[in-house]
Amino acid sequence: MTELVARLRAAGCVFAEDEAALLLAETDDPAELERLVRLRVDGLPLEHVLGWVEFHGRRYAVAPGVFVPRPRTEHLVDLAIARGGSAVLDLCCGSGAVGAAVAHGLGAELWSAELDPAAVAVARRNVPRVYEGDLYAPLPAGILFDIIVVIAPYVPSGEIALLPHEARDFEPLLALDGGSDGLDLVRRILAGAGERLAPDGALFTEVSEEQAPAVVTIAESHGFRATVDDTVVIVTRRP
Ligand code: GLN
Repeated sequence: MTELVARLRAAGCVFAEDEAALLLAETDDPAELERLVRLRVDGLPLEHVLGWVEFHGRRYAVAPGVFVPRPRTEHLVDLAIARGGSAVLDLCCGSGAVGAAVAHGLGAELWSAELDPAAVAVARRNVPRVYEGDLYAPLPAGILFDIIVVIAPYVPSGEIALLPHEARDFEPLLALDGGSDGLDLVRRILAGAGERLAPDGALFTEVSEEQAPAVVTIAESHGFRATVDDTVVIVTRRP
């Protein structure tokens, strides 16, 4: 254990003790443990080495090349659960964890949609109903959602180079790059939300603190109300 911690620490793992414990719990086979440790020491993100991430208290499958849900997004999940609803849509669902956590918290039905086939394959291990395609396009017609959650790519193209190497090297650009101001996808999502949101529904999307005021303005330009809670923009219909 101490040797393992030292190897992880030398490789730059800040939480070396925690990581060592997780890797040890993963297998009883020393050769398999060595294989996992090498992957980690060579820089593969811990979640990709383990093949799972803990998010909002539950484990979800992840895989190399697929966006790993961030702890900060648990706040969006809490807000969506507090709002309530029985039909949840997770757009740009990636691994599917965000919608899964909301639907689990609410005991609600879940629809998930994702463009990237690699993420779709992982999401299908985590959630029951994943539609492959661009935003709302692959969804069946006629369903209105009480809750829409979206972690769209929102990093401005010019800031991708500033992301930590785990994101830059092991997550697809498609899941990160949101165009020149980072809001290309958010704009398209809000333009289409009117047709998909139930009358009392709410859309929750995460952006950076600096982007939030611009997202409020975009939402208002489509006739919605929008409020900001930390880095989450909450969009509802005008009363
Ligand atoms: N800043 C976020 C992160 O890397 C970006 C997430 C995203 O674009 N979906 O954690």
